Amino acid sequence: MSFQNISESAKKLDEQDPLKEFRGKFFIPQHQGKDCIYFTGNSLGLQPRSTSQYVQQELDDWAQMGVEGHFHAKNPWMPYHEIFPKQLSKIVGCKENEVVVMNSLTVNLHLLMVSFYRPTKNRHKIICEAKAFPSDQYALETQAKHHGFDPAAAVIEVSPREGEYVLRIEDIVATIKEHGDSVAVVLFGGVNYYTGQLFDMKSITKAAHAVGAFAGFDLAHAAGNVDLHLHDWDVDFACWCSYKYMNSGPGGVSGIYIHEKHASDTSVPRFAGWWGYTKETRFKMEKGFHAIPTAEGWQLSNAPVLSMAAHKASLDIFDEAGIGRLHEKRKLLSGYLHYILREINSEFGNVIHVITPADENERGCQVSMLVENKGKEMFEELTKQGVVADWREPNVIRIAPVPLYNTFEDIWRFGNIIESILKK
Ligand SMILES: *Cc1c(COP(=O)(O)O)cnc(C)c1O
Repeated sequence: MSFQNISESAKKLDEQDPLKEFRGKFFIPQHQGKDCIYFTGNSLGLQPRSTSQYVQQELDDWAQMGVEGHFHAKNPWMPYHEIFPKQLSKIVGCKENEVVVMNSLTVNLHLLMVSFYRPTKNRHKIICEAKAFPSDQYALETQAKHHGFDPAAAVIEVSPREGEYVLRIEDIVATIKEHGDSVAVVLFGGVNYYTGQLFDMKSITKAAHAVGAFAGFDLAHAAGNVDLHLHDWDVDFACWCSYKYMNSGPGGVSGIYIHEKHASDTSVPRFAGWWGYTKETRFKMEKGFHAIPTAEGWQLSNAPVLSMAAHKASLDIFDEAGIGRLHEKRKLLSGYLHYILREINSEFGNVIHVITPADENERGCQVSMLVENKGKEMFEELTKQGVVADWREPNVIRIAPVPLYNTFEDIWRFGNIIESILKK
């Protein structure tokens, strides 16, 4: 694909876009009477226009039926969570019995660590990426402490080489090997929230298994963004949130994946609740926990239906668009963005350092731009001109054009605004 930095070319790409109708399914925030250039779908995805109907349905059923809604609502609440595995298994690449929607993300990360981080004196280390999302860092730190280990020694971070921003897979694999049978769990983000680097989950999993450790991933920035094949990659466990690329509303429900070889093993230790109990006998309310032999066996509580209704609204849109077509458009959009940034750099002398990998197999939607000196000024000017981007100290602007509602013209306009800022 060869791109051009003119607005006609961007408009043409939009006309040819087989997913162009989908933007109309979302509310686009406004700036001075015009659509914003919304590039923060990696932080909070936009609201589908259909979400309110999905939530209203449950409110209406609750108003009319009260408790009977558990059985007689249009979408009965008791098995409400069962509507998700079919759609989610396509998004994260797994079997339907390996996935369940429950709780929120950091909670789920802890619950999964309860099952998969069972350290012993000899095997107690956690290997992760340096600069993991803070919540994940705190989770790992306190997990190590909880088991009586010093986090400074138990949590091993893999860092980029001197002068580099992203991790090399050979360094990740070498670190895992170096710590060998002292490693209990390897836990990485699928896509790093800061650099936008997509990790090679298949190779990381293989390296973890080679030393007898479990491999898990926090897919907050990967689910609904990049192509995932968790089952085929033999990943042990994963979790994600639904409110970033999956547009399911602030603080929305989270999902977990557990490989069926573990999910079907009801003897895997866990923190249990009644919703993980064998369905046939759950309401006998007897002593002694009997887990459902699927990922559902990790559920604690009954389904938070209102926030799940918002999740369902969004997943129906994913289904309609088709995950394959979304990946194709994502690659084109981010290819166009990388092209526009290269053009700007050739005109203004490498003012923008893109720290996200250039290889389309090592990134998703997000592009992290490091702008020396005037980064904050540029960010503030972008905001004034209706670009919703994200600033990360000390000098990174993160932007993420997403295939469901961003356009090539958004990217062209963004480039144009940057040029006008640089000309000043
Ligand atoms: C967004 C994000 C979180 C947020 O966690 P919540 O529990 O949903 O507040 C955690 N980890 C990663 C990697 C994230 O990107």
